[in-house]
Amino acid sequence: LVSRQHQSEDTVIRVKHAEIGGASHVTVAGPCSIESVEQLYAVATAMKKAGVTVLRGGAFKPRTSPYDFQGLGVDGLKIMKQAADEIGLITISEVMSAEQIDIAAPYIDILQIGARNMQNFELLKAAGRSGKPVLLKRGLSATLEEFILAAEYIMYGGNDQVMLIERGIRTFEKWTRNTLDISAVPLLKQETHLPVLVDVSHSTGRKDILLSCAKAALAAGADGIMVEVHPNPEAALSDAKQQINIEEFNAFWKGLRDSGLYR
Ligand code: PEP
Ligand code: MN
Repeated sequence: LVSRQHQSEDTVIRVKHAEIGGASHVTVAGPCSIESVEQLYAVATAMKKAGVTVLRGGAFKPRTSPYDFQGLGVDGLKIMKQAADEIGLITISEVMSAEQIDIAAPYIDILQIGARNMQNFELLKAAGRSGKPVLLKRGLSATLEEFILAAEYIMYGGNDQVMLIERGIRTFEKWTRNTLDISAVPLLKQETHLPVLVDVSHSTGRKDILLSCAKAALAAGADGIMVEVHPNPEAALSDAKQQINIEEFNAFWKGLRDSGLYR
């Protein structure tokens, strides 16, 4: 179902006023985690002002340590829905279980399935039944074959609104958090008809090469970019090292638009 042989034309996903996989690129920006009303409104307002269409923010967080901040849960999603409705943004947030799909669905526009759950097959089946657009992240050590078969599960469940996102894979390299597999972009575009995005924050885990990686992603044919933005990254409750502040986002955004690669 995901293959180009099955469908030759690109899938375009329409969510409210946005089109993902269409003629224009899409930028998904926002904090790693929703932390407070003040924090989320600060980012949402700045993203709207910049012209970003999709706001991200985690409420159910897949943290490596059980002692780390686990997210605000449904209270966080309520904050995001109110901000997005008032400000006029489309929202995306991660769900980690079938149960969380039911909890989150009334509050968000797009479900995110995270890297750690790319092969949580019951979750993929539930996402297939959900009727909501799904952004599927590549697993930490997933091959492209495994990645597209995970997307196939969602489509097989009756959902044709599936987007893929490369977010870096595990290699021996230590200078980046993960290794951005740029070759995934043209390969996924070639093999599937689904929109393909690149998460420059989780793939690199750092702030200083985001623009170069985003430009590389667009040059390789990506339909959009994801980047983590926080009003005060040093104080962030998750991914403090890789989130950029609003000023840094504005410089990143300008650089991307001035590159001539961003449609
Ligand atoms: C995220 O985008 O919030 C996230 C946890 O990313 P990943 O699943 O790619 O690690
Ligand atoms: Mn994060």
